[in-house]
Amino acid sequence: MSAERTVRRRRTAVVGSGISGLNAALRLEMLGHSVEVIEAADTAGGRFGVDRLGDRQVMTGGKNIGRRYTEFRRFTAELGVDAYDSFGYNASRLKNGEILTLDSERRGKTLANIRKMGSARDFARLVAMAARIRQNDSNRFLGSSYFTRLSQRHDHAPLSSFFGADMTDMLIRPMVIRNNGAEPDEVSPGTFGTNLAMLMDHYDQLAGGIQPALDAFAKRIPVRTGTRAESLVIRDGKVAGLRLSENGAPAEDVEYDGVVIATPAYATSAILRDTHPALARRLSDVRYFPSTVVLVEYDRDMFNEEVRALAMDDGPCSNAGSYGKDERHIVRYTYSGRKGRLTDLSPENIDRLTSETEAQLRRHLGAPRAERVNTLVKHWEAAYSGYVPYHAEFLADVRKGVATVPGLELAGDYIQGVAIEPCARTGGAAAVRLANHLGAAS
Ligand SMILES: Cc1cc2nc3c(=O)[nH]c(=O)nc-3n(C[C@H](O)[C@H](O)[C@H](O)COP(=O)(O)OP(=O)(O)OC[C@H]3O[C@@H](n4cnc5c(N)ncnc54)[C@H](O)[C@@H]3O)c2cc1C
Repeated sequence: MSAERTVRRRRTAVVGSGISGLNAALRLEMLGHSVEVIEAADTAGGRFGVDRLGDRQVMTGGKNIGRRYTEFRRFTAELGVDAYDSFGYNASRLKNGEILTLDSERRGKTLANIRKMGSARDFARLVAMAARIRQNDSNRFLGSSYFTRLSQRHDHAPLSSFFGADMTDMLIRPMVIRNNGAEPDEVSPGTFGTNLAMLMDHYDQLAGGIQPALDAFAKRIPVRTGTRAESLVIRDGKVAGLRLSENGAPAEDVEYDGVVIATPAYATSAILRDTHPALARRLSDVRYFPSTVVLVEYDRDMFNEEVRALAMDDGPCSNAGSYGKDERHIVRYTYSGRKGRLTDLSPENIDRLTSETEAQLRRHLGAPRAERVNTLVKHWEAAYSGYVPYHAEFLADVRKGVATVPGLELAGDYIQGVAIEPCARTGGAAAVRLANHLGAAS
């Protein structure tokens, strides 16, 4: 008899319908368990940020899918959604009036441009790290042995003191602002492998966005939107369920044999506060940084095929890029990093900021004077994780804490990295561990 047929179907729940939770739930279902997804927001998808710009559906959050995102691509393929369009990695920097473009389709030119951005020593350090990432896939994720050793030697000081000032300003700062919403003095050297891995990939986008995958998912697995998980229900030291509040109603206990909490660290911490205060406290160490994304549709293209994004460091807007390779009439303005932590989201302020950045695009890239047709503003108070120093020690503490709670597994952006692929991987891995536990318990 196969192992699968001996396993009794167990009722499980996954908290969070971002990619970490979606992949956990799909994997649990594929392993034969009945599962439902609990989502506090009114719509599924979390930081994919599904929204509308005029009459078209758009994504205000994560949408660039690396060629190395194998777990995420397995997830979409399983849901019958696997049409991707190439997008590439294209970002430009200005140095002494020269535009230095980093483009994943022009590796040689990109390397030559990086060499111009800082000292020979920093360039050599980057090349050595890139070689480690190329040699061993695990170095793309948090907790890998190479970057853990690096963290043990260097995490007493922030990333800003690891590379020289020129390389930090020209290359490192735009990378960590883009990936973590953080400044180089707010992250640690030991987590830099996740940033460099992003630069080394080539990106596609789902041809129809994430919504078709969300629709296919909802046909297979129930998603309870508008339902907040307030705490775990623990009986005899084991997970017995979740305390859930639906649409703000008084909370009720719902029984589950196992739970994956797939939310950002601060939200996981809040769910565990009453039952597991020490683990909750450790999770609250993880830093998060805000970001605002403004999508503007114009009456004509704002970018050309050569240069589709400009990283900027002299104002609140950190990056202006075209929404798609062929959708250069929609610009995605990202406000993140210290100067980009917007508190005034009034239409007047957004209009003023957009006008300023449009002027920069005209000055630096020769963008046309175009009319705005539609504007969408999305503010994320905790857009990206910036992790913790000595991250491997943090992960060991969390693993130890979770091991004392049979029936509980965690997934999320703070475990292997913020990008969609590491999030998907933590969800898949949490599901397999929970299924093993439930199988062994039957
Ligand atoms: C603006 C932006 C652009 C990005 N661009 C890219 C990109 O191009 N490529 C890339 O690889 N990555 C990108 N990322 C990163 C990536 O999109 C996110 O890190 C990833 O989607 C996070 O997924 P998650 O499932 O871990 O968390 P989330 O997507 O945040 O999902 C967690 C879910 O849990 C829910 N929740 C929280 N608390 C509770 C509770 N108590 N009860 C019930 N539900 C709860 C939340 O509502 C949320 O829906 C971007 C992120 C942002 C913000």
